[in-house]
Amino acid sequence: ATPTSIMVGTGRAAELGVLFRKGDALQRLDGVKVVAFDKTGTLTEGRPELVRRVAAEGFEADAVLRLAASAEGGSEHPIARALERAAGADLPRAEGVEAIPGHGLRATVEGRAVLVGAERLMKREGIALGDMGQELRSMSAKGQTPVLVAVDGVIAGGFAVADRVKPGAKAAVAALHERGLKVAMVTGDTQATADAIAAEVGIDVVRAGVLPEGKVDAVRDLQRQYGAVAFVGDGINDAPALAEAEVGLAIGTGTDVAVEAADVVMVSGDVAGAVNALHVSRSVMRNIR
Ligand code: ADP
Ligand code: MG
Repeated sequence: ATPTSIMVGTGRAAELGVLFRKGDALQRLDGVKVVAFDKTGTLTEGRPELVRRVAAEGFEADAVLRLAASAEGGSEHPIARALERAAGADLPRAEGVEAIPGHGLRATVEGRAVLVGAERLMKREGIALGDMGQELRSMSAKGQTPVLVAVDGVIAGGFAVADRVKPGAKAAVAALHERGLKVAMVTGDTQATADAIAAEVGIDVVRAGVLPEGKVDAVRDLQRQYGAVAFVGDGINDAPALAEAEVGLAIGTGTDVAVEAADVVMVSGDVAGAVNALHVSRSVMRNIR
């Protein structure tokens, strides 16, 4: 492409709220075969709300929720905010908080050992789920994220948080399919939760249960399977995948780390930015051929 056509293209994209940080991304975008989206905060609002609370035998749901929310006090995970909002004020202070990336966390609250996180955290710690296993499956099937809580080594409660899909997500996915592209979703959430959200937005390729360090491997798998990848993400966890993909697109309302790692920044939180970016790229490349 000529420098002039690229300048015109990046200018047109900027008017649509899509900032190309590097001019060659406009050319690379045209060769992309698959667009992979992070789930939380990218396809969804990233502001989950607590929608269900269940106590295990011998526990009381509100008391378990308070312990869990206290343990999450210092966490930056969106699940932490959902638990805090639901638990209310005057939470006890947690001690010895240890984050376990991609799993959850552990802490001591009021002298009790508290674990909060995904099923894989409970597996890892050897905590039997009992009846909570069934509860967990029904939450996941609805696209909710189960948050399990163990107290002093036994399962104490199960909570579901649900995150709304962004209004423009379904239309953006349909537009990408219309352009003949594969559309994928990459998430740390469980397969069942991911599948339910994917069905809602019309995505057919789902990589679930991906640990933070696994997102780069997910990008490489997609490259091997389909060709050049555009990765769209917002989180600190997404930065390596944004850098690894042929084109990284960051949600402008996301973390600075993601924006720094990206080639393209979509100013609003709207994923339609990815469609606009592809559109501008194709028309610029078509003009010069
Ligand atoms: P994602 O961005 O998809 O949520 P993460 O790698 O941050 O991916 O986490 C993977 C899963 O681990 C989450 O879906 C959640 O179930 C669990 N998890 C991670 N951190 C926390 C936390 N602080 N509190 C509760 N659950 C957590
Ligand atoms: Mg995210």
